[in-house]
Amino acid sequence: MTALRFSGPVLPDGEVRDLYVLDGRITYERPSGAETGASGWIVPGLVDAHCHIGLGPDGAVDQDTAEAQALADRDAGALLLRDAGSAADTRWVQSREDLPRLIRAGRHIGRTKRYMRNYADEVEPEGLAEAVERQARSGDGWVKLVGDWIDRAEGDLKPSFPEESFAEAIKVAHDNDARVTAHCFGHEVLPGLIEAGIDCIEHGTGLTPDLVEAMAEQGTALVPTVAQLEIFPDLAAAAAPKFPTYAATMEDLYARRRETIMSAYEAGVALYAGSDGAGDQLHGVLPVEVLAMHRLGLPADVVLGAASWRAREWLGHNPGLAEGDPADFVVYDTNPLDDLTVLARPAAVVLRGKIYA
Ligand SMILES: [Zn+2]
Repeated sequence: MTALRFSGPVLPDGEVRDLYVLDGRITYERPSGAETGASGWIVPGLVDAHCHIGLGPDGAVDQDTAEAQALADRDAGALLLRDAGSAADTRWVQSREDLPRLIRAGRHIGRTKRYMRNYADEVEPEGLAEAVERQARSGDGWVKLVGDWIDRAEGDLKPSFPEESFAEAIKVAHDNDARVTAHCFGHEVLPGLIEAGIDCIEHGTGLTPDLVEAMAEQGTALVPTVAQLEIFPDLAAAAAPKFPTYAATMEDLYARRRETIMSAYEAGVALYAGSDGAGDQLHGVLPVEVLAMHRLGLPADVVLGAASWRAREWLGHNPGLAEGDPADFVVYDTNPLDDLTVLARPAAVVLRGKIYA
């Protein structure tokens, strides 16, 4: 097999190197007869820590659609995806060399009729532990809970399950070697989940100073999905005639989003980049999320680390590009740390040693 040579500064440390790819792996020892791959700034494969392969506005999509989603993510440089819940069985993606590496969470687990239609494994509190076992078995070490959603009877955002049910669910997941994350828009659900030792919070717009301190202390991660929060005003407007209290809650969470997310960062919470690519948002939009995080006030190296080396380490993959590591990386013409907009224009995407885009 012919070796490929890539040269340029290798992030995160930025040391200028000649990097070779042979049999899908990285080597710094020059193989004979290496052909030129590309040159530029070399970044370990990007990570979308919150997306949904196989999911559309009405639930599961067909295999062709799911494939197109995964290809769009790959071509945007997202080579490792943490799927945050899918109604489709997407295990087949993992046998495809040309598609990003995929860490699945099974289906979302939600309360009966308290989430988007056809999305979740819907249960009542007494069935929650069993659902967690079920989804832990069908996922890749992650379980996704719907932490809160509109309660139409109450007319406001409310936790999906009682605090003690959530605590038991987290314990059951951990006993089944799965980490747990939860969709959380509001505040009420958060103290119980964090106290029960949840591993990650998605969105997290209801976080408060005491909670971010606790998260930082325990190592609870936050995937703020900043770009996706732009749907809050629309959700509020659509609900306002029938559910004015819920609409006001969503408006308030939206208005405070910058302050909330920056307080988590300042407290030392580990943040990761998630596009939430699904029905409402197209795939291949991780660069948009990275820019949205940066515009909020997060430094470029923090944001890029959150979408690359730090996220890779968090998910149990090679953080950097060391000798013998899988050859998953992206090459850019200019330094993304100077201008993150270049992420939208990769010069070369290399997955399992093969060049795409
Ligand atoms: Zn999502």
